Amino acid sequence: MEAVPIVLDANGQQLSPTTAEKARKLIAQGKAALVSEEPFTIQLPYSVELPPRPREVEREKVGQGKRLLLHICCGPCSTYPIERLRGEGFQVTGFWYNPNIHPWQEHQRRRESVQKYAEAVGLPVIWHEKYEMPLYLRAVVGHERFGERCRICYRMRLEKTAQVAAEGGFDAFTTTLLISPHQNQALIRQVGEEVAEEWGGGALEFYFENFRRGWSERGRLTHEHDLYRQQYCGCIYSEWERYNEGHIDGLLLVDSLPIGQVKP
Ligand code: SF4
Repeated sequence: MEAVPIVLDANGQQLSPTTAEKARKLIAQGKAALVSEEPFTIQLPYSVELPPRPREVEREKVGQGKRLLLHICCGPCSTYPIERLRGEGFQVTGFWYNPNIHPWQEHQRRRESVQKYAEAVGLPVIWHEKYEMPLYLRAVVGHERFGERCRICYRMRLEKTAQVAAEGGFDAFTTTLLISPHQNQALIRQVGEEVAEEWGGGALEFYFENFRRGWSERGRLTHEHDLYRQQYCGCIYSEWERYNEGHIDGLLLVDSLPIGQVKP
């Protein structure tokens, strides 16, 4: 059986192959010229404009022309999302608001590492200057169990982000919490979409993306920029859980000692 012939247009551009039988027929009809027998190659007398190959088509970027406010929980977790969001065309501004972080010195260390990285990559940041830890503690009283308190914690931070985004005329907001495998991504998304609706009324988008795929890049950038790595999620309960076995609910503090009934 004859080899599959190569078909060229008038400019020498390679086209889709044809069968040897059809190629011979085109030559016989004067509709193509024989270029070589080995390899069997024919050339058409006209040029063909081919559609660009899929990989050459510039993919439309989801963030093109959009301003996005990025809630940042810590320096390491900000690394990949900033890079990724910029790559997607977003004009990114950082936002710092983490009243859950305990104690104040830990809060400051994380804040400083965000500042350090933001300066290194030229990221503008809106800083919520107050340390509102008492608001967080008040909000989770009676809901200290892991997961239950996290929902409240996500809401506090994302609600503030949505508010600042709406007031600042941003198109979208999101959070670096979405990179952590220790966080509940589905719950963050749900809360994010709820507060987007509440504050933006359809004009503000909670941008969800699974940033976890950038976890190793996060590690590389954290190392490269020598950023502070925290040892626990943030709140006083997560600190306890980090250094003790199991979750804080194991203590049953909340159930056994209702508010106002603490024995002297
Ligand atoms: S464990 Fe983390 S997400 Fe959950 S409440 Fe504490 S700081 Fe917030």
